[in-house]
Amino acid sequence: MGDCVAKGAVKIIVERCKACGFCVEFCPTKVLALSSAFNSRGYHPPHVIAAEKCSGCDLCGMYCPDFAIFGFRLSRPKEPGNAS
Ligand code: SF4
Ligand code: SF4
Repeated sequence: MGDCVAKGAVKIIVERCKACGFCVEFCPTKVLALSSAFNSRGYHPPHVIAAEKCSGCDLCGMYCPDFAIFGFRLSRPKEPGNAS
């Protein structure tokens, strides 16, 4: 079944990032891109360009040398559309 709802999410700690790009390179579903914005150290941190594709696999977190990014799985209701 097609499913457009994100299974995971990613947290970026912008000020730790040194813009090596590993997270962007290794994300299997291309959730990330380096932003055009600067952090206070003059690096371009990643930002999320395709949030719905994130699986929460945390490969980005495993490859980041600076512990600046973390992926995590989201829990969500079993069926869409059954909001209380
Ligand atoms: S891997 Fe870490 S330090 Fe490198 S660009 Fe991504 S968040 Fe920044
Ligand atoms: S958690 Fe996985 S899918 Fe999500 S941004 Fe990180 S590497 Fe990509």
